[in-house]
Amino acid sequence: MKKIDYLIVGQGISGTSFAWRAYFAKQSFIIIDNEKSVTASKAALGIYNPITGRKFNISWNYNNLLYELNEFYSDVENKLNVNILHKKNIFRPFKNSSDNNEWNVRLSSNRYKKFIKEINEVGVLTKGSGYVDVKKYLLKSKKYFKKNNRYFCDTFKSEDLGISNDFFSYKNKKFRNIIMCTGIDEKNIKSFNQIKLNSVSGNSILIKCENKTSHIINKGINILPINKNEFHIGSTYYQNVIDEGPDELMSKTKQKFEDNFTLIKSMFGIRSASNDRRPIIGRHKHNKRMYIINAMGSKGVSQAPYCAKKLFNFINNNENIDDEINIDRFRS
Ligand SMILES: Cc1cc2nc3c(=O)[nH]c(=O)nc-3n(C[C@H](O)[C@H](O)[C@H](O)COP(=O)(O)OP(=O)(O)OC[C@H]3O[C@@H](n4cnc5c(N)ncnc54)[C@H](O)[C@@H]3O)c2cc1C
Repeated sequence: MKKIDYLIVGQGISGTSFAWRAYFAKQSFIIIDNEKSVTASKAALGIYNPITGRKFNISWNYNNLLYELNEFYSDVENKLNVNILHKKNIFRPFKNSSDNNEWNVRLSSNRYKKFIKEINEVGVLTKGSGYVDVKKYLLKSKKYFKKNNRYFCDTFKSEDLGISNDFFSYKNKKFRNIIMCTGIDEKNIKSFNQIKLNSVSGNSILIKCENKTSHIINKGINILPINKNEFHIGSTYYQNVIDEGPDELMSKTKQKFEDNFTLIKSMFGIRSASNDRRPIIGRHKHNKRMYIINAMGSKGVSQAPYCAKKLFNFINNNENIDDEINIDRFRS
């Protein structure tokens, strides 16, 4: 029986990114997903943004992430003939005059300067950002892989896996490698039980509102214009696994749009995060052909293309995985 290069478990942002990496390198794979209706990827706004957090830090490795993100999603767009990557600036209104001063100080730093488009008395417009239409990306990728017999709806169970020296068998097929991309569900599957994953749940909402804003607005929450009069708004962060519902986002949205909007849909997902808030990429301690891409936190869209490339090059070309994202950092 011919061996398939990869069994990819999970078709969220991470698994889909690895599948495309394998596809573009002309390697064989099967991707399986249990098609849960609630996942982090299905709730995501899909925003990528160089300047994040309360302290407005520049995200780790952002120049490389941005480069990979642009290359990767445009390759996928060309292959699928769809538009999924949307470049958009982010407008951040100032809360007070010290906000204004701090942004003017940042303007003199080369690291920040390249991401600042404009500052005026009411706020700052930053660039190097945008969003990926995650829903379209996942659905179109799935449809394409399904048509090519590379995608199946299936629930992975460790007991169905046969482990040999140089291959895995799974449901009558042989695979050279397994890539586990199951997000927070890795906590139950426990293939990599030496790593600790934290659950960070959150909500997003879709609303209708007559407003002509074209930038993403970042003011405590992100207001992302997606279609005419339609906005995706998020996100909340809770250190638990409970769906707190849309109330917090609804009241923050009222501060911006008063009562002039209608809720279309409320979404919920659980992000998986590591203790140091960086992705976890690498090889299993004992099963040398089993790998993981996980802990994307709140930055799956920008981190997954880079992480998938790093893992792919590690497996195929023996290239190093950066220490900051390597699973080895949690092993003594
Ligand atoms: C409200 C909210 C807003 C967000 N906004 C953004 C944003 O604007 N920008 C951004 O970059 N990130 C955002 N994120 C974070 C982003 O969603 C995650 O980083 C990303 O989705 C993680 O993707 P993943 O593929 O690793 O995991 P997941 O999305 O959890 O995907 C795992 C997949 O594996 C499948 N699976 C699990 N177990 C099994 C099994 N046993 N067998 C088969 N399949 C299985 C699941 O069904 C799922 O499809 C947001 C998250 C939330 C919750």
